[in-house]
Amino acid sequence: MKVLNFGSLNLDYVYQMQHILIPGETQASKGRDIFCGGKGLNQSIALARAGISLYHAGMIGAEGDILLKTCRENGISTEFIRKIPDPCGHTVIQVDEDGQNCILLFGGANRSITREFADEVLDSFEKGDILLLQNEINELDYIIDKGYEKGMRIILNPSPYDDALDACDLTKVSLFLMNEIEGYQITGEKEPEAILKKMKERYPQAGAVLTLGADGALYQDETGIYQQGIFKVKAVDTTAAGDTFTGYFISSLIEGMPVQKGLEMAAKASAIAVSRPGAAASIPRREEVL
Ligand code: ADP
Repeated sequence: MKVLNFGSLNLDYVYQMQHILIPGETQASKGRDIFCGGKGLNQSIALARAGISLYHAGMIGAEGDILLKTCRENGISTEFIRKIPDPCGHTVIQVDEDGQNCILLFGGANRSITREFADEVLDSFEKGDILLLQNEINELDYIIDKGYEKGMRIILNPSPYDDALDACDLTKVSLFLMNEIEGYQITGEKEPEAILKKMKERYPQAGAVLTLGADGALYQDETGIYQQGIFKVKAVDTTAAGDTFTGYFISSLIEGMPVQKGLEMAAKASAIAVSRPGAAASIPRREEVL
């Protein structure tokens, strides 16, 4: 069984702020770091650091060599990453003194996926392989349809939520991973239990992970609902908390770990990520988590 993550690769420009800007405000930042990120790359790194060998597929711009290097350093296969003349996908991230963040996203090369490229990538995969997706690349609906036709197991982090997801046939997804906001955007429900109930009604074929920030996480499958608390840390930067949880929880499923153990490992990994600055750079390795 092979694992493919078809997703974004971004350069993250992270600014340290006293507080997150309000409309009309000008504020000097206290510093800036540049990190490799993107939900796609973050989740690939989390999977790789959790011990899973995988392929990342996506597109990068001319300034994206550092993204390739980061993949290789993490043992992620780069044969399906294509370089094109468009600018790289990037973000401008503000982080306040409490570790809260807000993110401006520019899609760049991540929005230049063609159907031909998607076909070429998926040609190398087959029934039973895992296809992990987020909503930071274009042609998501096409990729879901094609992956499903092949019999791949589709895992979707519907983030960030927008109209592109309405065009997707989500009945083809076998596992959703989302936070409370995305849960609300998909179901129209605010309470965690109500979100899971709606997910079960609409997508009875699928499991669902609902992360609740400092309130932990819930997981639902045909055997029931599982609850997971957090591991207390000083929050420095919550960027990539959800991506870390996603990568680690999926790794536990791939390895056939009991659900509660997998949730616990994912919560430990994301607590470590929250305690450090940056996105990809903050994702811990398996030895550290254990
Ligand atoms: P996202 O980053 O997608 O918004 P969440 O904020 O829900 O995701 O966080 C994902 C997971 O990260 C949570 O389920 C929890 O395990 C962990 N986490 C988030 N915030 C904290 C925190 N302040 N302390 C410890 N763990 C946290």
